[in-house]
Amino acid sequence: MFKSLNLTEKKEESAPEVAAEKVKCLIIGSGPAGYTAAIYAARANLAPVMYEGLQPGGQLTTTTEVENFPGYPQGVTGPVLMEDLKAQAARFGTDIRWGMATRADFSGSVHKVWIDDTHLIEAETVIIATGATAKYLGLEDEQKYAGGGVSACATCDGFFYRGKDVAVVGGGDTAAEEAMYLAGLCRKVYLIVRRDVLRASKVMAERVMKTPNIEVLWKHQTKGLFGDGVVEGATLVKNKGEANEEEVKIKIDGFFLAIGHQPNSEIFADYLDRDPVGYIKTVPGTSKTKVPGVFACGDVQDPHYRQAVTAAGSGCMAAIDAERYLMEKNN
Ligand code: NDP
Repeated sequence: MFKSLNLTEKKEESAPEVAAEKVKCLIIGSGPAGYTAAIYAARANLAPVMYEGLQPGGQLTTTTEVENFPGYPQGVTGPVLMEDLKAQAARFGTDIRWGMATRADFSGSVHKVWIDDTHLIEAETVIIATGATAKYLGLEDEQKYAGGGVSACATCDGFFYRGKDVAVVGGGDTAAEEAMYLAGLCRKVYLIVRRDVLRASKVMAERVMKTPNIEVLWKHQTKGLFGDGVVEGATLVKNKGEANEEEVKIKIDGFFLAIGHQPNSEIFADYLDRDPVGYIKTVPGTSKTKVPGVFACGDVQDPHYRQAVTAAGSGCMAAIDAERYLMEKNN
C-alpha cells in the first residue's frame, strides 16, 4: 500500500539535496505483480531494485487461505504465498528494500523517484506495481472481525461461505458482480445499498434483481457487526435520518465490502494518464504507460480482474517490456 501524497504540495517544498543512486530497473511495490516483475527482471540481468512499500507483500498478506493461485493444489495462505514469491525474487538477485516511494518526476529521460522523501533514485526503467486499496466503511468492527468474516474480495473468499448467508455492501458494478458470484455459492445474499437505486450498469442491475437468492436492502446502512469471535450478523439502519428510521438486524456469516478500490497512483498523477478513479492507463495489451521506460502492472492499472494471478501475469509483461525498451534504447 502506498501513501497518497499531493504532488503539488510536495513540489512547493525545497527539493531534498541528496546524491542520486542510479539503477537500471526500479520496481515500486511488492504484491504479486511487483515480485513477478522482479523475478523476470532479475533473470534478464536488469539488476532490479525493489521498494516494498508500507505493506510488504501487498493486499494478499491480509487474506487467509488462497485457493485459486495455480500451483498450490492444497491452497496456501496469503502471507506464505508472498514469502514464496519474495524468496524467488531474491534468489535471482533482486535487491529488495524497505521503503516507500513518496514522489516521482518523469519529466526527463532518466526517471526520478524519491524514497521516503529523502533517497533519490534515478532509474532507466520504472515498473509501477503499487496496487490498489479496497475501501472500507471505517467501522471498528471491520477491524475486529478482519479474517473472521469480513472480506473485500468475494472471488478470493466466497468459497468459504458455501451454503451460508452473507451480505455485500455497495451498489456499483463491483457489488453487483460480487453479489452474483456469491449467489452461486451461498444460500442467501443480502445486498446492502445506501440509496434506493443501484449505481451499477443497467444490465448488471437487472441480473441482480432477477437472481432469486439475492435480497436487496434498499436505503440501508451498516451500523456494526456482531458475533462471538467471528461474524454472526450485522446491525443496519434503514431510512437513516428520516421519520421512519429503524434498526434492522440480519444474520450472516460473511460481510463483503464492495464500495470501490483506490489505486495507489497519486504520486504519478502529473506524469501518467489515469482514468477518473485513478487507475493508470496503459497501452492495451502491454504494460507501457505514456512515458517511455515507465511501466505499470497489477491492480494499479487493472479495474477489471484484480486477481493475484492476473497481477502476476502483468508483472511478467512489465519486466519483458522493460527489458525490450532497454535493448532498443541501448542498440
Ligand atoms: P463505484 O464507485 O462504481 O460504486 C461504489 C458503490 O459503493 C456505490 O454504489 C456507492 O454508493 C457505494 N458506496 C460508496 N461508499 C459507500 C459507503 N460508505 N457506504 C455504503 N455504500 C457506499 O465502484 P465499483 O468498484 O463498483 O466500480 C468501479 C469502476 O469499475 C466502475 O466504473 C465500474 O463500472 C467498473 N466495474 C466494471 C465491471 C464490469 O464492467 N464488469 C465490474 C466491476 C467494476 P452510491 O451509489 O450511493 O454512491
